[in-house]
Amino acid sequence: MIPSGGEGCPGCARVAAALAGRDPALVAELPASVLVLGDHQAFPGYAVLWSRVHVVEAHHLDPGAYDAFMRDYRAAAWAVERATGCLKLNTAVLGNQVRHCHIHLFPRPADDPSPLEHPWVHSARFGEPGDAALRRRWIRALKEALP
Ligand SMILES: [Zn+2]
Repeated sequence: MIPSGGEGCPGCARVAAALAGRDPALVAELPASVLVLGDHQAFPGYAVLWSRVHVVEAHHLDPGAYDAFMRDYRAAAWAVERATGCLKLNTAVLGNQVRHCHIHLFPRPADDPSPLEHPWVHSARFGEPGDAALRRRWIRALKEALP
């Protein structure tokens, strides 16, 4: 599938960069998406799954593409859970800022200091990419944990 319809869309640019080998955060190219390590690591192992196809909402995908995207989501969720050993996985589909379908995967650890709060409570730390060597280790761990 080729991303389409997203001239000027940061999501399409992200997917195109990943598919061209220009995204150092790339974990894996999946059939309907690309999985990248999150731009911040406020939650270690946080990752984002981007639809290869430009749509604003997941339900805008045609049924076959939707099913493929959901299979990718399942694989990505298992990878994050296995790689991080998280107690809980928060899945968020918002798209208010980048109107290109993507899914945030926030692993919540057993020692989470605010387990009843949503991840954006920690948004002050979302601008911090984290240690480069640690990012590479998470990318490798997520890749190896994909089913
Ligand atoms: Zn797009």
